[in-house]
Amino acid sequence: MSDKSKTHESHSAENDYSFDVVLGFDMETDIGSYTPFYEGVTHGTPLILNILKKHGISATFFWTGHAAENNPEMVIRVSDEGHETGCHGLFHETLGDPIFPLPNNWPILPSEVEGRLTQATEIIRQIIGEQPLSFRCPRLWGSTTVVNVLEKLGYIADASLPMYFYQNQLAPYYPSATDWTASGDLKVLEIPNFCDLSMESNDPYQRDRDQWPLFRTKSAGSLMEKINGFLHHVKNQVRRPVICLYLHPWEFYPMPHGAIDFGECSVTPLPFIVENCGPIAVKQLDLLCSMITENGGRFLTAKELVKEYQLNEREYSVDSKQII
Ligand SMILES: [Zn+2]
Repeated sequence: MSDKSKTHESHSAENDYSFDVVLGFDMETDIGSYTPFYEGVTHGTPLILNILKKHGISATFFWTGHAAENNPEMVIRVSDEGHETGCHGLFHETLGDPIFPLPNNWPILPSEVEGRLTQATEIIRQIIGEQPLSFRCPRLWGSTTVVNVLEKLGYIADASLPMYFYQNQLAPYYPSATDWTASGDLKVLEIPNFCDLSMESNDPYQRDRDQWPLFRTKSAGSLMEKINGFLHHVKNQVRRPVICLYLHPWEFYPMPHGAIDFGECSVTPLPFIVENCGPIAVKQLDLLCSMITENGGRFLTAKELVKEYQLNEREYSVDSKQII
């Protein structure tokens, strides 16, 4: 595709630097863990595919095992359109270390991680006929146990680390087997999800620094400002920054506002969680794709980024001594 033929030296008028973008869609039940429905996967995914095709972009779709098993035709359709099929856990459960408390989201035992990820991996392998190579933890809640299991299962990329919370990794890195947030000798490449580190945070968990879901609650332009803020923040440390983004198919189809009744209880997501899901989000994703390309961004799937990283590790790594 034309976007992949750009060289590392290519620049745009807007930026003095070029960068790579890993665009990921987390394929799960509507509104994450809060409903058992797949309206977003069914109706939102085709809208995403149209936009990606229009822009000539390849993305990574991280499926939960349950979402894949219940929507196999959509898994195949996405894969047939040239996108990468990754994994997003088995049931959107808490696989790793929780960052903030939520009801009914207790972490599974570390001893359960391998069994669940083996099963999720096998479900996806049976549908697309090959082993998924890229992974993202539900809610970005990863752990040292998870990266060790991913390595054992043959994954090459984990796009889980939430930069807004850990803040210590500004670029892709090989994690330590004893601390997934530190650099080490594992072979699975950890790809941090970018955030704005230049702003003051007013949240105890730093969530207001995060990228999501700014593109639809504000605009594509607001997210682009955050991206440019990050690029500016790392420009003397990383030659080729990576912007890792996470979105969801349910954001592109109107979601219910207010309480959702489940008989024993009702769940009322906060307004921002479902705000502007549907046509506004579709329009903003379209705009965002244009803006990223105009600003010097090159879209890669997670596994394509791993290949580039293996060829040019120094280019992608943090080096406080280097001057660009
Ligand atoms: Zn998710």
